[in-house]
Parts: sequence; structure tokens; C-alpha cells
Amino acid sequence: MSIFLVDEYKEMEPYVPGEQPKDKLYIKLNANETSMPPSPKVFEALSKKEIWNMGFYADPHCRDFRRAIADVYGLTEDEVFVGNGADEVLSFILMSFFRRGMKIYFPDITYGFYRTYAKTYGLDMEEIPVREDLSVNIDDYMDLKGDIVMANPNNPTGLSVSVDDIERLVAKNPERMVIIDEAYVDYSGETCLPLVERYPNLVVVRTFSKSRNMAGMHVGFAVASKEIVADLNSIKFSFNPFNMNSLTMAAGIAAVKDTYYFDKCVKSTIENRENFKAELEKLGFEVIPSKANFVFCKSDAIDSKILCDKLKEEGILTRHFADERLKDHLRITIGTEYEMMVVLIAIKEILEEARENDKSGIKKVI
Ligand code: PMP
Repeated sequence: MSIFLVDEYKEMEPYVPGEQPKDKLYIKLNANETSMPPSPKVFEALSKKEIWNMGFYADPHCRDFRRAIADVYGLTEDEVFVGNGADEVLSFILMSFFRRGMKIYFPDITYGFYRTYAKTYGLDMEEIPVREDLSVNIDDYMDLKGDIVMANPNNPTGLSVSVDDIERLVAKNPERMVIIDEAYVDYSGETCLPLVERYPNLVVVRTFSKSRNMAGMHVGFAVASKEIVADLNSIKFSFNPFNMNSLTMAAGIAAVKDTYYFDKCVKSTIENRENFKAELEKLGFEVIPSKANFVFCKSDAIDSKILCDKLKEEGILTRHFADERLKDHLRITIGTEYEMMVVLIAIKEILEEARENDKSGIKKVI
């Protein structure tokens, strides 16, 4: 740490993303990304013309991109705010509507970045325990004294609360901002986007990193009332007016317009998820029913950390969390049909090996 870092950031605990090792080729199922390419329209959009125009600043209002998103979701452009991934969008939301010491609530088991943000912005965070089965009980949030951020579906469980429950929450608390992070919603089929028209305290955050196969581009957006979007834009213009570059926006416009390719990719991921879940269950795993592009599973036959390490030796990356309530589980992103077949074969072999040799930390042999 340098002598220049301001005191309030000395206690900061930066977020640790899923590892991105480059030592060999992995089947990468540890960060809820996808090995599927973006829409073919993205390849066309990143043409020589876009590269030639790099000499000019991009539109800081991001009008074409916001309009393209608005058109697809039946919104108006002034209800859409865009940023570098859901992460940056969330960051702008916290920067704009929270100040030091303000209360923020989120589930104790959720996307780890919320804790990081709360610390970065000096917020008074309170983590609401999820139920024994790791699901969120919306009734725990009904009578709180501050704003709420909630991933729906949640990460790393894949569980979601119903849109009706979210509506109850926003309707009962018109003075409190409710931020619903819908990073995985395209795999769930139930979005609270339509509620934005009726509830000016609701902000919905989305990303292109999952269902649009563009994590490397890092595009995200928020949908909210015109007033909230105007506030976000004025903070953006006071911080970094050109947060979105021209190539990213050209790619984003092409991707969001290609609904055919989008639907095809989402459908295949959901199919792969359900097949993978069924196969894991045949192997004795307990798999939480997921509405996302990953499964959260555990087996009495093998310690999850050991399984994670052994899969890595086989060239397959998955994500293990050390937290007490999560350590028995393993999060496995849903990849292509072929990738999931390879994972299943590897898991079967690891379990076989465990059966033969229960010295290597195996809890029980199935
Ligand atoms: N929200 C949730 C719930 C996530 O799990 C993630 C990424 N893992 C993000 C937001 C970040 O999305 P982006 O890549 O758009 O920053």
C-alpha cells in the first residue's frame, strides 16, 4: 500500500473474480461465462468502418445503443442507462443514490461484489440470512429501513424469487430503492422489467456477459424511470462521459438486435442445464433447481473443494466458495453440450477413483 491511499480505502477488500488462468486450455466453467461466440451480426458490426472511426470519440449519450436496447424491450431510450458491464452500472447506481453511512440490505448468500461495493462506498450494509435451503424469503425485506440490492436469480444458488414477490416489495416500500440485478434472468423466463413503468423506486440491472455471450466486451445496462436514468447520466458525465467505447456499442447494438441467435443460445443453455442436472442426480448429487446458467450442487461422496481441484487437474475450471454455508457445494457453469459431456465423464472418473481410494479426503464412498 502506498502512503498516498486515502484512509477510507485502506480497509477495502477488492473483489476476487473467478480465476482466468492462461497456462493451458481449460473448459472454463468457473465464472458463468460461455464459450459460445457472440451473434454473427457482431462479427459484421466490428467492420473496418468502425475501426477507421476510432479516431473520433464515441457518442457520450450512447443514444443508438440505448435506443436499440429500448426497442427490443419495449421501452424508451430515456429509461435505459448503459455501462461497462452490470458491475459498472451497479457502481454508478451506488455512487448516485447512496452516501457514506447509508443503509443497504442484501442476502447473506449472493454475488460477492455487493459486499465489496458497500465497503468501497462506506455503506452500512446488512446481510439478511437466506433460508436453510438457501432461498431468499422476500418477507424478510418488507419492513426494513433502507435500500435493497438483490440478484434474481441469485448467484451462486440459481434460485429466484417470483415477480409477484418483487412487486409486493416495491409496492409496499415506495420510498426505498429496490435494485434487482437480473444478470441471469434470461435463463429463468420471469423478469420484473414490466414493473419499472409502475414503480419508480425499482431499478433493474442487466448484462450482456451471460446470455449474449459477451463477457469480454463487458456491457451492462439499467432500466429505470426517466428521472433515475437522467440522474445516472449526470453522474456519469461528472465522472467519465465516454465510458462506452465505439466498438463496444457497435457490437452491443448488433447483438441486442439479433433476437433469433439470442433465443437459440439461451434455449440450448437451458436444455444443457436440465440434462446436466439430471445426470448429476443420477450420480448421487444434490442439485439446487437453477434458473441461471450454472448449477450449485453437492455430493456426499466427495468433498466439493477436492472435486474442484481434481476437475482443474483434468482441465476443467469450476468455482468453490470457502464460506461456511457454501463450502459443501460446487458451482458449475453450464457450457455447451460437448463441454458438459466432458465434465460428466471427468466427474464419473473422479468418483470411481474415490471409490477405489478413499484416502484422498473422500468423506463417504457411494
Ligand atoms: N451480477 C451478478 C449477479 C453476477 O453474477 C455478475 C457476474 N458474475 C455480475 C452482476 C457482473 O456482470 P458484468 O459482467 O456485466 O459486470
